[in-house]
Amino acid sequence: MLAAMSPSPSPFEPAPVRAVRGRDDACPGALRLHAADDGALARVRVPGGLLSSDQVRVLADAATALGDGRLESTSRGNVQLRGLAADAGAELGARLRSAGLLPSDTHDRVRNIVASPLAGLPGAGADLRGWVRQLDELLQGSESARALSGRFLFALDDGTGDVAALDADVTLIAQPAGTALLRLGRAATAAPVADPVRAALAAAEAFVRLDSGSWRVREADPDGTLLAAALGLDPRPLPALPGTRPVVGEHDGALCVGLRFGRASAEQWRLLAATVDELRVTPWRGVVLPGADPARLPELAAAGLRTDPHSPWERATACTGSPGCAKSLADVRTEAAAALDATAGLAGLPVPPLLPVHWSGCERRCGHPVGEWVDVLATGDGYRISQLPGSATEVTNQQMAAAVAAARRTT
Ligand code: SF4
Repeated sequence: MLAAMSPSPSPFEPAPVRAVRGRDDACPGALRLHAADDGALARVRVPGGLLSSDQVRVLADAATALGDGRLESTSRGNVQLRGLAADAGAELGARLRSAGLLPSDTHDRVRNIVASPLAGLPGAGADLRGWVRQLDELLQGSESARALSGRFLFALDDGTGDVAALDADVTLIAQPAGTALLRLGRAATAAPVADPVRAALAAAEAFVRLDSGSWRVREADPDGTLLAAALGLDPRPLPALPGTRPVVGEHDGALCVGLRFGRASAEQWRLLAATVDELRVTPWRGVVLPGADPARLPELAAAGLRTDPHSPWERATACTGSPGCAKSLADVRTEAAAALDATAGLAGLPVPPLLPVHWSGCERRCGHPVGEWVDVLATGDGYRISQLPGSATEVTNQQMAAAVAAARRTT
């Protein structure tokens, strides 16, 4: 089952900002741990979201031995461990290296590659795993790529428009015969390229040569004209894409399950690893299980994984909030989960498509979706709910569940 979304920049997105960064970004990695309120946090880059079952077991074991016993997926299809001791980096690094999850110390944080998670499966576009692995290798071999920010993102789209909508810095959209369209930042254009992966790397290296002091292409070159000229490209209007992304449940040739706000216990991850030989972490807090038997859906649901595409949990996200983040005005994940569980049982609620919804503990709105979405912001006294700029409603915690459900109605 697929949910429509637009690959184009949304009118609800903030205008591009020409930001010049005066310092190195603090984006965490596998070696550079972030000191969160609930302990150190490590982010493991997972290009294309591709994880073998053995790698999942290594991550689950590390989370159990070194962290809080859980793993969470990020909006870029990476995986995080939380609750680590401040000095856990060395042992974690050794575990990750042994599993092929830390192939380069110098390029760890720049291996941000998302790929269409259904690519190569029946009804989807071309298999992109070869592109993912080639781009990962080229990135690690590029000296200048070391200068990229840990926030710089590559998106490899199979032509369905799912990850093309993720506001990446460099996007490849697969075309017939192994070619692609290359989109730069938020450009409304894309250029045909015959050697897609090398073209994507060249775009990233050209961005480094701009020496703009910016972390993202959208900050230094919002319409991509500087980079297109530097690369000698001939951009054309971006074609309309189907704009589809997987929702949870059964697909042709795969199962897709959701993780509650992207987080799951080590035991839940081990169950996923026992289901397939290779899984794909999606940028939407879920996991695709290629070739999995649909008969396993009840077992996955019983283990607490999301498998119902008609649940209000679908397309619902939340920032870390308390107790993991000191900036948060509320334990947003606990309160959001209660609101979603409460509305799941209410009669008369609309069925999907519901607008995406995101809970935030402060104005930074970490991890919010792109496109049109419902913003639920903690105020300290309750929540402020906005569907569009300028239409905010203040509610108490008790009123929040019904107010969010109403705001998500699309008709
Ligand atoms: S949105 Fe605010 S409260 Fe939530 S994780 Fe980000 S900084 Fe913390």
